[in-house]
Amino acid sequence: MPDLVDLRSDTLTQPTEAMRRAMAQAPVGDDVYGEDPTVRLLEERVAEAFGHEAALFCPTGSMANVLAVRTVVGVGQELLCESSAHVARAELGAHAAYTGLTMRTWTAPRGQLDLPAVEALFAPDMGPFFVPTAAIAVENTHNFAGGAVLPLADLEALRGFADRAGCAVHLDGARIWNAHVATGTSLAAYGAVADVLAVCLSKGLGAPVGSLVVGSAAAVAESRVWRKRMGGGMRQVGVLAAAGLHALDHHVERLADDHAHARLLAEAVGVDPAGVDTNIVVVERDSAESAAAFVRAAADAGVRVATVGPRTVRLVTHLDVDRADAERAAAVFARL
Ligand SMILES: *Cc1c(COP(=O)(O)O)cnc(C)c1O
Repeated sequence: MPDLVDLRSDTLTQPTEAMRRAMAQAPVGDDVYGEDPTVRLLEERVAEAFGHEAALFCPTGSMANVLAVRTVVGVGQELLCESSAHVARAELGAHAAYTGLTMRTWTAPRGQLDLPAVEALFAPDMGPFFVPTAAIAVENTHNFAGGAVLPLADLEALRGFADRAGCAVHLDGARIWNAHVATGTSLAAYGAVADVLAVCLSKGLGAPVGSLVVGSAAAVAESRVWRKRMGGGMRQVGVLAAAGLHALDHHVERLADDHAHARLLAEAVGVDPAGVDTNIVVVERDSAESAAAFVRAAADAGVRVATVGPRTVRLVTHLDVDRADAERAAAVFARL
């Protein structure tokens, strides 16, 4: 019996042998003292790639989002975001619990930016009467919208509005590398539209752990304090940063393979591959029963998939799904 093909998430990857070697050989120090050379190298490299002053290595993308957003939104202020954004739906209220902010949302097909809706939601500071909007968050690629890319032109238009309105932009770039590879847009161009970003190494890039806050030196210094306050000050963590550096060297360009595999799977499940921008395929079933039956039948045939909504099944391609795995899964889906 061949191995299972696991399409539940791109977080499930195993570190490769070469990545494990890089981790084992990494020079390390106590990063709370700022003395881990591998962490510093990773932070400098990622900051530079996005054209920002500094970056901060964090254990999770959720922590990076909370730290990043709290540099631009204070207690009793609001963050605007799309209604299925990870910051709103999948961080278990962390932004409310830690930062004391509120959120209002717009809803757009495929998680896109809707600038007129953002402009209509935007609330200026009117003194002690209404919640003022401090920042707007965008997610690129958009997870629950099936890995959809937000076009750079839309992000630049948002940047223009934010500058005129005097508010900040946060970019949840957990899968920004997928957007970069799918469109050819540089990381620096994405960095330029945001005051602050959160990016993950543990999704498509295949590192076991790790995300970064990216922004100004002041925002990152403030995030360093809050990371420690939340219990996220890590010591000889260069072993994990080394995995991230290895991933940046070896696992970015290959994301194009994941995108091709996702289109192959889309075709097999009857989803228009033209609507699959990157490595996620969202399959809407008629009912919860039908979604659950699909998951069970796929598992029986050796392909693991997961539901991400009452009727929604998600397929995610990644480093541990090669062409043969994708073809095997496609054959199973075509049969179901
Ligand atoms: C996975 C993800 C995160 C961070 O998740 P963690 O599991 O906390 O690392 C943030 N935003 C998006 C869009 C994600 O998909």
